[in-house]
Amino acid sequence: MFQSFLIKYAEIGVKGKNRYLFENALVDNVKRALERIDGDFEVTKENGRIYAVTQGDYDYEEAVEALQHVFGIVGICPMVQLEDKGFDDLAKQTVQYIEDNYDEKEFTFKVMARRARKNYPMDSMEINAELGGRILDAFPKLRVDVHNPDVIIHVEIRNHVNIYSKILPGPGGMPVGTAGKGMLLLSGGIDSPVAGWMTAKRGVVVDAVYFHAPPYTSERAKQKVIDLAKIISKYTGPMNLYVVNFTDIQMYIYDKCPHDELTIIMRRYMMKIAEYFARKEGAQGLITGESIGQVASQTMQSLAATNEVCTMPVFRPVIAFDKQEIIDLALKIGSYETSILPYEDCCTTFVAKHPVTKPNINVIKNSEKKLSEEIDRMFEEAVNTAEQIKIR
Ligand code: ATP
Ligand code: MG
Repeated sequence: MFQSFLIKYAEIGVKGKNRYLFENALVDNVKRALERIDGDFEVTKENGRIYAVTQGDYDYEEAVEALQHVFGIVGICPMVQLEDKGFDDLAKQTVQYIEDNYDEKEFTFKVMARRARKNYPMDSMEINAELGGRILDAFPKLRVDVHNPDVIIHVEIRNHVNIYSKILPGPGGMPVGTAGKGMLLLSGGIDSPVAGWMTAKRGVVVDAVYFHAPPYTSERAKQKVIDLAKIISKYTGPMNLYVVNFTDIQMYIYDKCPHDELTIIMRRYMMKIAEYFARKEGAQGLITGESIGQVASQTMQSLAATNEVCTMPVFRPVIAFDKQEIIDLALKIGSYETSILPYEDCCTTFVAKHPVTKPNINVIKNSEKKLSEEIDRMFEEAVNTAEQIKIR
């Protein structure tokens, strides 16, 4: 069985002087991901590569799955690590490696040796040729193809000797923690978990705020959002989720403002409150799952009206995605099944039959005047009574 993984990363390799910051963040995130499973992995950085090595028992599938949730990883290579006991032993072990890892011994291959330790008695060309020969002797149905092989047998001569031939895909992206922090407006829908995931993929730490409207939205709806936060946090790491009781604000707007403007005005208050928590958490921007044209509140005019209250940048990673494209991503990250559970959302409870699709900002501001100081008191109350849930 494999006792180690070589972890490949791409983009962070090009960050010049800051490279070590990216690598260290990736090492930390790999450690954290593997700590969640049994196996006592030791994670180290060596010559621009990251290794996770264990002497203990562990579940292979579980380890691969954990690593496939760490942004910054492009490839996961299950690897056999040997003591260097000379070339004959290496040849024997390489043959054994193929024996153990390939059911059908009928494919084309090439050996790609890398000699990082120059005092090894053979150079890499010699290793390629000699090892290739030994493999052919052991498995007569194999063929060498140096241009387009089915399998590349990598052999690295370092302090240890590493053998690997399989590269499982990682999630790509940048290590979380290397690009600041965002506050995600997380609803129970399909779009916002995907938006949070996409932003985290670029290295951003994500915290979240959920607007809850009891008794119009149930405890189950809240639990669904917590479950979604847990799913995203498998990728993003620990997350603070703020659950804001939005009922009073929503009812008050419903009482005082024209119903066709309700959604826009409500969304403006959501943004303001989200910004409050973004500041509190030291975030640099807000993240939403808005997508142009999806609903009345997501026309360009509506987005502009909602955006107008924000002083921070608002990131909308799925802005130009079709619903199906968002669904495909939700399926990929594992949030879809939870998102489609049928619990009501605080926005749907009060939606007007004919909401404005081209709100005029002056009209909206005029309607908001009717909310007077009372809304400020409600804002204070909402942020002060918010529940903070630490998602781990
Ligand atoms: P989603 O599938 O993410 O729920 P949606 O298509 O239902 O999106 P809206 O309800 O208009 O769209 O919401 C747009 C965005 O506003 C959401 O993607 C989310 O970022 C934010 N949002 C909406 N409702 C809430 C809520 N109750 N709590 C937190 N954020 C919300
Ligand atoms: Mg929604």
